[in-house]
Amino acid sequence: MGWEENVRRVVPYTAGEQPRKPGIIKLNTNECPYPPAPGVERMAARMDCSALRLYPDPDSTVLVKALAEAYHVKQEQIFVGVGSDDVLSMAFMTFFNSGRPVLFPDVTYSFYDVWAEVHRIPYKICPLDENWHIRPEDYRQPNGGVVFPNPNAPTGLAESLETVEEIIRANQDVVVIVDEAYVDFGGVSAMGLLEKYDNLLVVQTFSKSRSMAGMRIGFCMGSEKLIRYLNDVKFSFNSYTMNLPSQLLGAEALQDEAYFKEITGRIIATRERVKGELKKLGFLFPDSGANFIFATHPSIPAKQMFRALRQAGIYVRHWDKPRISEYLRITVGTDEQMDLLLSFLREYVALQPG
Ligand code: PMP
Repeated sequence: MGWEENVRRVVPYTAGEQPRKPGIIKLNTNECPYPPAPGVERMAARMDCSALRLYPDPDSTVLVKALAEAYHVKQEQIFVGVGSDDVLSMAFMTFFNSGRPVLFPDVTYSFYDVWAEVHRIPYKICPLDENWHIRPEDYRQPNGGVVFPNPNAPTGLAESLETVEEIIRANQDVVVIVDEAYVDFGGVSAMGLLEKYDNLLVVQTFSKSRSMAGMRIGFCMGSEKLIRYLNDVKFSFNSYTMNLPSQLLGAEALQDEAYFKEITGRIIATRERVKGELKKLGFLFPDSGANFIFATHPSIPAKQMFRALRQAGIYVRHWDKPRISEYLRITVGTDEQMDLLLSFLREYVALQPG
């Protein structure tokens, strides 16, 4: 064995495929089908590349300031990272150190257990109820912290602010992280609770609703104290996490609220229309408040459907995991993309025996 005995061994998170084939319909990683705000493209086109000679601002001040203005909080209440994955990983490391298990739902974002493992944090999963809802009473047991997405992934179900607050209220001696990667598609943010709870961290991302997954921009909002602790850990790892283009283009994206409202509104409208069409085809799904639909068909195996869709150049996500192996997570794309998906499914469903 030798040196291998002392390796930090982990089973890594499996990200969705990023096929680069032309002409495919990519509905597998919850990206936005529309381009970023027009101002972002304009700024990128005239970016001064000589500035890349220098290290970027370690505090990402331009972006933090723009976020503080957009979300009406103090700059000291904002922490930014390389995607919300980076923010979440830092938060796990910073706040979940009690030795007691961190609680999160099952089914949920499959990165939480990976971060818990890599950071050596004990954890306990709390199964969702039979309708895929979080059971707030599960979060009344002794724990070392709480994390959950709202809306949840991959179910898409949003919990009410009352449920979210009930969980926070019961856990004021630990840090509670609400992962709001999908909140802009109709969920209610826990941001409004920040004044009341200094142990609450609300995490969001530019990857979905701001159409900038390729820039890797995530952020969180919390009490000044929480943010100070996060920064201390971040600056103990790497001062320059966020590159200059991400800082500048991220800040620019926040200037165009009308565009943001327009594209999120469009995705919501498409989602609602697709829900109706899927229902007609016999699909069942929790009522998504996100930019994806988590659907099952009572008489067609999901894996078989996943493969057939892939064969046809339509990429969705499937997990061979307990409880969810009969579901497909379908990102909401443009109306045209969804029409192609639906016409494929119409034919496919009609061809099934029985
Ligand atoms: N949280 C949830 C629930 C997600 O589904 C994702 C996307 N995979 C993320 C966080 C991370 O997104 P990003 O790092 O692109 O901000």
